[in-house]
Amino acid sequence: MDRETFLNLGKHGPAPGQADGIRMISMEQWQKSLENALTDASELAKRFGLDEEAVRRVSAVFPFRITRYYLSLIRAKGDPIYRQCVPDELELRESGDLMDDPLGEEDLTPAPCVVHRYPDHCLLLVSNRCACYCRFCTRKRKFRTPMCVDEANVSRGIEYIASNPAIHDVLVSGGDPFLLDTDRLESILSRLRAIEHVDFIRIGTRTPCVLPERINRRLVSMLRQYHPLYINVHFNHPDEITPRSAAALNKLADAGIPLGSQTVLLRGVNDDPEVIRLLMRKLLAVRVKPYYLFQSDLIYGTEHFRTPLSVGLDIMKKLRGWTSGMAVPHFAIDLPCGGGKVPLIPDYLEKVDGRVYTFRNFRGVPYRYPDVEA
Ligand SMILES: *Cc1c(COP(=O)(O)O)cnc(C)c1O
Ligand code: SF4
Repeated sequence: MDRETFLNLGKHGPAPGQADGIRMISMEQWQKSLENALTDASELAKRFGLDEEAVRRVSAVFPFRITRYYLSLIRAKGDPIYRQCVPDELELRESGDLMDDPLGEEDLTPAPCVVHRYPDHCLLLVSNRCACYCRFCTRKRKFRTPMCVDEANVSRGIEYIASNPAIHDVLVSGGDPFLLDTDRLESILSRLRAIEHVDFIRIGTRTPCVLPERINRRLVSMLRQYHPLYINVHFNHPDEITPRSAAALNKLADAGIPLGSQTVLLRGVNDDPEVIRLLMRKLLAVRVKPYYLFQSDLIYGTEHFRTPLSVGLDIMKKLRGWTSGMAVPHFAIDLPCGGGKVPLIPDYLEKVDGRVYTFRNFRGVPYRYPDVEA
């Protein structure tokens, strides 16, 4: 691993507006916010009474960046927001099960910037930067060895998609695609939109949660030209739904963009049925349809966030029937080694007796169901 590169990228990344050496004449507010994000170990240590050397030890391996907005959501040291963004020495603990590329994405890359695992849809990675570096991130390794998502590689990825008529859905991801400046993102979206066999485009972003000012008028009026477009946002805790994040989501929804969410199940953050239920309710109230609840991936440096599968299954049992069906996401594991996502569903089937199935409903009451002859 190239230590110099990851230190450089992780700490600051290319300055906003400087990607590809193009310097923007004037910065938008969100780009200033990004420059102003907390990346200084001694400031962080002072703020929370941490050992500065410890912060440096962790951030030398897994850099940190916390937007001022997200920082303002921390109510107390160690709370769910804090745990998601402040480096912790536990990240340096060795663990046998964990890996650098657990999803096997490097093997599923037929063209630069493309991860093609499923027959009819793929990922297009367009950015290697995020507003805030989540401590549990699946792409933690990318903070260290930045993948090359420059103009030329993204273009080769788009050509791959254009030459594969089986691809009907492209998920634009990263890093965070909304960290690209609006013109650059538009050039990618317009080229994807021009491909006949691509039925719709999806974008995955965490900016409404960690940098809500990114969802500005200019971005939204650009996006609405590329319908059908779906956006998947990432929220992990009810405290992340604030008037500012709600306003950002509102702008996207008002532009006719259907919003979905993904949530990562994290120990000490949201591994509690009440917390997840409240999060899902709050998401629906701001027009976001819960889509995935993910088991946390097997990434180096994230052992302390892992929950047993039984915790997620129990949460699912406490959602289904007990709250709106609209609020129930798919609970899934992204299998190691490129296996893809598998849904995990609590077992409602009690027994099968010939043609007669016995199920337990959400309250645990058994009901018989006579199946039809096959
Ligand atoms: C998650 C993912 C997708 C999208 O999966 P859906 O279940 O369709 O949302 C596509 N490709 C890859 C490689 C993925 O990891
Ligand atoms: S926003 Fe997503 S990709 Fe970026 S650090 Fe957080 S989890 Fe990882």
